[in-house]
Amino acid sequence: MQRRTHKTGDNNRSELESICKKHGLALTIQRRAILETLVSRTDHPTADQVYEAVSARMKGVSRTTVYRVLDTFVSIGIAKKVSNPQSKARFDAEMNRHHHLTCLRCGLVLDMFDANLSDLQLPSGIEDEFRILDYSVTFTGLCASCNEATCGRPDRSIT
Ligand SMILES: [Zn+2]
Ligand SMILES: [Zn+2]
Repeated sequence: MQRRTHKTGDNNRSELESICKKHGLALTIQRRAILETLVSRTDHPTADQVYEAVSARMKGVSRTTVYRVLDTFVSIGIAKKVSNPQSKARFDAEMNRHHHLTCLRCGLVLDMFDANLSDLQLPSGIEDEFRILDYSVTFTGLCASCNEATCGRPDRSIT
């Protein structure tokens, strides 16, 4: 298993830009800033976090615009909403098939790249019922620091 903390960066970005072009989506300054924010991050930000990062870089971006642009990115396939136990959608611009480790306590979502998981043998017959376009495996649990906090916390109930 391989955990990657940095995205492939430029290759991924130009690939995403060419998909935008194919869909006739002009990369305005705002859309580009939103895309770059998403590509540069590996923490699967919420729409609000993307908004905060983009509005720190440029003035005049509205929250509504960021939400709408993210939805557009999802609909043309250059970003995905990551399924997670929280109600807030989190966004991911990693195009290569990958999987997630999700912390139930703090909500951290880590990418995981693993050749075996990405080449799963599907149960026979499933293709007759359902045309699978993509999949992603999500492991839920506790991240290192939450796990440490849970196990290493002194028991304060005893005085
Ligand atoms: Zn955690
Ligand atoms: Zn991811």
